[in-house]
Amino acid sequence: MNNNKKILITEFINQNSFEHLNKKFDVRYDEKLFENENEITRIIKDYDGLIVRNKTQVNSSILKNALKLKFIGRLGVGLDNIDTGYCKSKNIHVQPATGMNADSVAEYVVSSSMSLIKKIPMFHNGTVKGEWPRTTIKSIEINQKYLGIIGFGTIGKKVAEYSSKNGLKILAYDPYVKEINNKEIDVKLSNLKEIFEKSDIISIHLPLTDETKNIINKSSFSQMKNKPIIINTSRGGIINENDLIEAYNKNNISGFALDVFEKEPIESEFYKKIKLGMNCILTPHISGVTTESNIRVSDYIVKKITDFFN
Ligand code: NAD
Repeated sequence: MNNNKKILITEFINQNSFEHLNKKFDVRYDEKLFENENEITRIIKDYDGLIVRNKTQVNSSILKNALKLKFIGRLGVGLDNIDTGYCKSKNIHVQPATGMNADSVAEYVVSSSMSLIKKIPMFHNGTVKGEWPRTTIKSIEINQKYLGIIGFGTIGKKVAEYSSKNGLKILAYDPYVKEINNKEIDVKLSNLKEIFEKSDIISIHLPLTDETKNIINKSSFSQMKNKPIIINTSRGGIINENDLIEAYNKNNISGFALDVFEKEPIESEFYKKIKLGMNCILTPHISGVTTESNIRVSDYIVKKITDFFN
């Protein structure tokens, strides 16, 4: 240890990255501590740095006791579990691992869009049940179909890059992006109306904010003309889940992949609406978490916190 700063880690981090950090600082690492908000609130006063994923709710009750805290490292992206306004007022630096898991999420979007457009979950279910649904379920090709990307930041751009290689035509909606710099990817900046009307696949890559909460709702689904596949890897609450299930049951959309949910783990009320045989893929918030991204994300935050305190 060559620095007397104290760092608290409340969720899992790559072991090598932790060992690296532990040589330099006085580190307490407990990957289950996020479950015990009272304990974090009690001990946070002693720490100069805090490292979390998305389960630790870094709210004002914790932050008002964080008398020495100067740095919060987020092992991932999306800062909706951190009261960033409070942090700003207390001059606490908040550092996400921007871009470090973008490839993992983009691969998830490509693989789930391919699976759903090919109706793989339905073929799998029918085959397992012995129905041999070779002619009863129809699937289509992805080539030359429209992909609508909502939120054209780090991950949205990566999804465009991967998907253009599979022959998809890409529309993107992001009012904060004024032009597309990458000349190698053919993306048209568009509006929500055109995306809803033309897309065969719609993938959401927004942060969860007051502006984006419920942005995909009953009215959005009613404008979708091509019965698209919907993919949400960003945050639960951006798509209205009840409206999504209703749209699927009314055949306004032809499938969906959800990696994120309004309540995580998903609640039984939502789970009851999902039936085997639906063209859907549900996963437990893992699209950004792979062996490789865990190493990149952890190394990145360890480097940032080390640089910060040096
Ligand atoms: P980013 O900040 O680079 O991109 C977000 C984009 O959304 C920005 O370009 C921004 O201009 C745009 N945006 C903001 N408000 C908008 C609005 N109202 N309408 C349209 N566009 C809007 O973030 P990113 O790295 O691309 O990540 C996107 C989100 O994905 C994160 O906020 C995070 O919640 C989520 N995420 C989830 C996982 C996972 O494992 N499921 C992993 C990584 C990221």
